Amino acid sequence: MASSSSSLFHSSSSSLFLPSSSKPRPKLKPTHFTVKAQSPLTHNTSNIRDEARRQNATHEPHRFSAKYVPFNADPSSTESYSLDEIVYRSQSGGLLDVQHDLSALKRFDGAYWRSLFDSRVGKTTWPYGSGVWSKKEWVLPEIDSDHIVSAFEGNSNLFWAERFGKHFLSMDELWVKHCGISHTGSFKDLGMTVLVSQVNRLRKMNRPVVGVGCASTGDTSAALSAYCASAGIPSIVFLPANRISIAQLVQPIANGAFVLSIDTDFDGCMQLIREVTAELPIYLANSLNSLRLEGQKTAAIEILQQFDWQVPDWVIVPGGNLGNIYAFYKGFKMCQELGLVDRIPRLVCAQAANADPLYLYFKSGWKEFKPVKATTTFASAIQIGDPVSIDRAVYALKNSNGIVEEATEEELMDAMAQADSTGMFICPHTGVALSALIKLRNSGVIKAGDRTVVVSTAHGLKFTQSKIDYHSNNIRDMNCRYANPPVQVKADFGSVMDVLKKYLQSKAPRH
Ligand SMILES: *Cc1c(COP(=O)(O)O)cnc(C)c1O
Repeated sequence: MASSSSSLFHSSSSSLFLPSSSKPRPKLKPTHFTVKAQSPLTHNTSNIRDEARRQNATHEPHRFSAKYVPFNADPSSTESYSLDEIVYRSQSGGLLDVQHDLSALKRFDGAYWRSLFDSRVGKTTWPYGSGVWSKKEWVLPEIDSDHIVSAFEGNSNLFWAERFGKHFLSMDELWVKHCGISHTGSFKDLGMTVLVSQVNRLRKMNRPVVGVGCASTGDTSAALSAYCASAGIPSIVFLPANRISIAQLVQPIANGAFVLSIDTDFDGCMQLIREVTAELPIYLANSLNSLRLEGQKTAAIEILQQFDWQVPDWVIVPGGNLGNIYAFYKGFKMCQELGLVDRIPRLVCAQAANADPLYLYFKSGWKEFKPVKATTTFASAIQIGDPVSIDRAVYALKNSNGIVEEATEEELMDAMAQADSTGMFICPHTGVALSALIKLRNSGVIKAGDRTVVVSTAHGLKFTQSKIDYHSNNIRDMNCRYANPPVQVKADFGSVMDVLKKYLQSKAPRH
């Protein structure tokens, strides 16, 4: 972990955001960062938002900016939109991308950005206490901090999976980025804080946005409804009936969303909400929305930061609609372009074999993309046959020397059970990513000494039913090799002693 222990608030002359001892010399005097330091704890304002507002008043106006451009546009294209416009697709119907004014960001060198980001970790300063908004200049540089809707998401655990790595893979450097240890239990929070903040800004500007809607495989709706509820914005979610977990369903209900349970699959819900949002003043929060990726990309920056700005060799991301794999690419690439690191990791996208259109495309040598009809998978959040962000994923993989792998239901459930047996408690999607790692280790593509990060996308507690089914050996056509069912015992001393003795014998160290 990079040191951020030097006090920000020691002397009144130190800049607010930089440890005074290690302050690098920016190429240009960063006047907008050199407001006087004042601790929220020592100043007698009532809360951290008031404090940020007061600080803001003394700032020079920002001079970083970002806009929408068509994704991967021809360099001669001049098409662009303000982030304050409500637009989801380019003129030609393609995807949009948020493009930052890199030349403005480049006026500061890599060392400056590293120190700035490091100085904000672990504080309550609004809004920088969030792992997303600690990178605000790279996310939504022009938003007023007062309009940000944040649960201080991000800053998630980069876990050294020592036992799993050594025991199952002979690897010393296996790490799991636990993005699911988060406000609503999945990485979707990282993107949703950005989207809902921007919607909040639009509403404050009196733009006609009555509510925010999404179709969801579960986690998006949970994140959307939590952030909307926190800002008092109505949220509307379209969910495929009987295809998401109880834990996922209960979240939007509890957070007061308007929940439509529709008798179709995710792709069907997506189609419906697109038609509906074309008619009604509902802002569309699906992952075709490029704002979310700006928040999600901070997980990549965070990984570099947590390794003290050393670059891992591999990052493995489970993929469904395929926005996240591109977000990781974008985060790493920005760090390279702005001089924080000198290379980027190789990316692996891991798909469930029951929903593997990207895998098939990759295997064909990127010849022909064909959507598939996704069939049921325990990795329900990636049960998507026609991914919205296919072009983004292909771009990310081609530009990172990337690979696509897939996992069968048995492989992903076994990998999840094995990981859990070493002390983790992961979701089935992370099981897909671990299966991909196991295959790439077995084939020698990933070497024993390679530093590898597996991205865990949701908290295991959201997917307990799949674990119960597995451990009760209750899944058709699956061996459940690592099932650990509870032992039924009669309520008497002798019976309990019998089973315990047998158990302890099986665990006794052998010589
Ligand atoms: C949304 C989600 C994914 C897939 O991310 P994409 O950007 O759609 O590829 C994977 N895992 C979990 C738990 C998710 O919620």
